[in-house]
Amino acid sequence: MESGISSAGGVAVPPIASLLVVDDSRVQRNHMVATCRALGVELIHEAASGAEALVLLASLQPLPQLLIVDLEMPGMDGIELIEHLGRGPLRVPLIVASTRETILIESVQTMARNLGLPVLAAMRKPLTPGALQAAFDQIGQLDAASASVAIPDATSKVSAAALARAIVGGEIAVHYQPKVDIRTGIVRGVEVLARWNLVGMGAVRPDHFIALAEREGLILALTRSVMAQAMEQAALWNTMGLKLSIAINLSPLVLDQPTLVDEICALARRHHLGADQVVLEITESSLVDCMGAALGVLNRLRLHGFGLSIDDYGTGFSSMQQLSRIPFTELKIDRSFVHGACERNHLRVILQSALDMAHQLDLSTVAEGVETLADWQLLQECGCDLGQGYLIARPMPAKEMPRWIRQQPARLWTLRSAALPGLGLQT
Ligand code: C2E
Ligand code: CA
Ligand code: CA
Repeated sequence: MESGISSAGGVAVPPIASLLVVDDSRVQRNHMVATCRALGVELIHEAASGAEALVLLASLQPLPQLLIVDLEMPGMDGIELIEHLGRGPLRVPLIVASTRETILIESVQTMARNLGLPVLAAMRKPLTPGALQAAFDQIGQLDAASASVAIPDATSKVSAAALARAIVGGEIAVHYQPKVDIRTGIVRGVEVLARWNLVGMGAVRPDHFIALAEREGLILALTRSVMAQAMEQAALWNTMGLKLSIAINLSPLVLDQPTLVDEICALARRHHLGADQVVLEITESSLVDCMGAALGVLNRLRLHGFGLSIDDYGTGFSSMQQLSRIPFTELKIDRSFVHGACERNHLRVILQSALDMAHQLDLSTVAEGVETLADWQLLQECGCDLGQGYLIARPMPAKEMPRWIRQQPARLWTLRSAALPGLGLQT
């Protein structure tokens, strides 16, 4: 294996103390190592391909704080390496670096983020010390959850039978993520997100167990459990004077269930919730297959006054078509068009035109994936209504919401102080 370790001594403590450079070119690696060393990085590992990087990552203890990944490499290239990491339990912050065109490098950055990997920067080579230092400095902005860790992930160990037992046994919990007014920061509602923790084995990733539920005919039972918990909780919040709209994710696969509309109406009635307090989020990309029955269900839900949100907008193949035939009330822009759009002109253009279109269609707009102050400020400039993302809050159990709401004015104050003059959060 062409890998090794280089080290530098006694420089002022840099934000990055250890990293792994993955690049097939020895010349490029040497240049990168020298630059990183000059910036004070003490421990530099090297790998000449994606495969070598994976072997190293499996054995290094502790993990390096950062990976710098080249794209073009023989054998496993940088994109395959990133995909591999996205499927696995390791979460190591990344810098994507390549001599290829900017749009390709940025697209890989988007891909990595969509896979849930923390990405510090995507840069064209050769990297200058200044650019690299700026990327290193970003590591402070990642929260603790994004630092290099091997996530205890029970995902690979679960079976359909275990999921069925968990649903029946009430083990599927729900967390709530605030949706706030982008102009004022005031919380307007929450998205309800299913959670499954296996005792002693950690969390199962939602996208994994939701897909499993969809494949195994369990999604309706899971959705019923999530809806019941969320509506009960919203009713409880109502009694505390906290009127929040709740957004529930509906898989298109439940939309052919003839009793669904009556069940949702009955649940809302039982908990004295107005239909206008409940939004149903439907992922657009998978709607195409079951359009017939789904359209009837969606129209009836709307007739009863429930909100309908087109989720992950922009990622499907027939967004415009869905918008033209389903009575949506809200357009929820996928996070791949939101986070980082301020630095990437083509994302910004897509974001702005989606918002303009939504407003012309009288839809309220929600941006997912608001991770930085720059994302927030851009959304203010572009006229988005609501925002949701890690900058505002991570999904949390219901019992944490009142405290989060109490602390929100102080949080907004901090954000306002951090904002550039003239671009500050409006009040
Ligand atoms: P989604 O509907 O797009 O939900 C938003 C996802 O983005 C959540 O992931 C949330 O934790 C994550 N997120 C929120 N803010 C940020 C941010 O600033 N940056 C990034 N990178 N991510 C952010 P989660 O909870 O892992 O859920 C994944 C998906 O699983 C959801 O995507 C939804 O499609 C599905 N899901 C979750 N709960 C349910 C459910 O009860 N029913 C159905 N049918 N699907 C569900
Ligand atoms: Ca959603
Ligand atoms: Ca989404």
